[in-house]
Amino acid sequence: MADTKIPEDAKKKLDTLYESYSVVAEDTYVFLCDMKYSYSRWSKALVEHFGLPSEYMYDAGLIWEEHIHPDDRKAYRDGIEEIFSGKAPGHDMQYRARRPDGSYDVCTCRGMVLSTPDGTPDFFCGIIRNHSEKSLIDPVTGLRNQYGFFSDLRSYIKDKTPIMIGMAGIAKLSEVNEVYGYEAGNRVLQHIGRYLLDNVTTRECTYRLDGSRFAIISTKRTASELEDLYELLRAYLRKGIQLDGIDIVLELNAGLLKLDDFNVDYQTVYSCLNLAYQESKHNSHGDLVAFRNSLTDDNKKRIEKLHAIRSSITKDFSGFYLVYQPVVDAGSEQVIGAEALLRWKNDEYGNVFPDEFIPFLETDPLFPELGEWILITALKAAQQLSEYVPGFEINVNLSYAQLEKTNFTSVVRNALVNTGFNSAQLCLEITERCRLLDLELLSNVIISLRSGGIRIALDDFGTGFSSVGLVKNVPFDTIKIDRSFVQQIETDEREEHLLNTFTNLAGIYGADVCVEGIETPGMRDIVKSYGIHSFQGYYYSKPITIEDFLDKVKNGANCFAKK
Ligand code: C2E
Ligand code: CA
Ligand code: CA
Repeated sequence: MADTKIPEDAKKKLDTLYESYSVVAEDTYVFLCDMKYSYSRWSKALVEHFGLPSEYMYDAGLIWEEHIHPDDRKAYRDGIEEIFSGKAPGHDMQYRARRPDGSYDVCTCRGMVLSTPDGTPDFFCGIIRNHSEKSLIDPVTGLRNQYGFFSDLRSYIKDKTPIMIGMAGIAKLSEVNEVYGYEAGNRVLQHIGRYLLDNVTTRECTYRLDGSRFAIISTKRTASELEDLYELLRAYLRKGIQLDGIDIVLELNAGLLKLDDFNVDYQTVYSCLNLAYQESKHNSHGDLVAFRNSLTDDNKKRIEKLHAIRSSITKDFSGFYLVYQPVVDAGSEQVIGAEALLRWKNDEYGNVFPDEFIPFLETDPLFPELGEWILITALKAAQQLSEYVPGFEINVNLSYAQLEKTNFTSVVRNALVNTGFNSAQLCLEITERCRLLDLELLSNVIISLRSGGIRIALDDFGTGFSSVGLVKNVPFDTIKIDRSFVQQIETDEREEHLLNTFTNLAGIYGADVCVEGIETPGMRDIVKSYGIHSFQGYYYSKPITIEDFLDKVKNGANCFAKK
């Protein structure tokens, strides 16, 4: 037990020693005790994590003992007593330590006694490694990892510190791995990590995120200064880096975000940054893209709006709703089904269309939950509509983020079982963006769904680069031709040739064709002559609510046909 208050100079020494230990103790907690006064300093992260009274404590060993699991306490106490009585030079033990919520973390504690020349125990110092905590350091580059990034991001938001965040990723790291081996890929990552470290200052931190992506958080650079840094890195990698005599030339993609609005959570910020990054990758040839103002909103408002939309997922999906656009038979123009389309609305932001938020939500871990809600809501609506339109088919849009979940097929099956809807009347629409998935995985999921009677449509056919390849490799029931191919069909004959080619292709693979975006009777008349199965478009109806749809179909299946 301590009976003397620690003098200022002893405390100063304790602090100096403590600082130097904590520099080398990355990713672990440190403690240092001046044994003469039984006065310790413990790492702030540990104090916060376990809810200890302070970074500085007299008799810290006793306070800590309170947190140790009753079954492990005796061994701990014996160990500490041996140290303080001078019998043991150090200890190495494992115990469970209690967190404020009552749960326990497994910790390893290693400590050493430093004695004075005459053998009197002077300092007791050591580290505690928490095995339940995720490491914050990336083992390949030594930079802080994704968890470190999230943890820092949360702190900046909490402290309301304005920051610029840049995220850059190597365009084809997997090719380096495939051609030169995994080890070479790691060395490329180390090379870039080193470059970043050499170019940041004390008010910035660099991170290695998942896979091939890096990030930098700066409290001092402007957007254009970060862009300069990115361009330098880009030029450097374009010259090629040398690995054992091999020249490896790399391309990058990068996104940027200015954070000066703190009414958001870190996930929203991350998703916005991701969105800018994806834009750089897919539409800007790797130029740095700033998360930018849409035409109507300023930057700040857009992040807040996306945050509100994202938060709705966890608030019982309040604000989300579906509208339904009829699909009509191309011959009879009778309604045979509908496509469910997502909307979001609240008092502050009004009605928001999916193109504004789906690309942002797609990378979010919450998205599959929303996808399931969409599916169930659409099936319930279709169940009601099928009372008036026998065999009513409902089309539901999917994102690749849903398809890549291993439980996806069982989510769909459960939704069908729970709503009692006939699987043969469900059609799932996937877009070309799904090519981001492994083709084999995609084929397997689709084959499995089709074996359960569900139909699969390829949406927006013709808009991407690999539509034909997809049709060749994956069995689709329906091909939906994007409205951009029929927009000018009344005046541009070439669109007719294209349509003809597309329908022939669909025919080869045994798929039906649905043409979207029919807006006029003229369009309908031309398109009709190409052996199309179904139509969708404003000419028949814009997407409408389930209530309006029910009102219409009560008048019969040709309620959307024009005279
Ligand atoms: P999409 O699947 O191609 O949906 C068709 C879009 O075209 C809808 O826009 C629809 O309102 C619009 N449209 C239909 N007929 C016409 C027409 O005659 N003329 C014109 N100009 N437009 C027409 P919306 O509802 O804004 O949806 C945009 C996109 O958002 C959808 O494109 C789809 O990719 C995505 N999306 C919508 N709902 C969902 C959903 O529940 N899940 C997923 N993953 N994506 C969705
Ligand atoms: Ca669609
Ligand atoms: Ca479409």
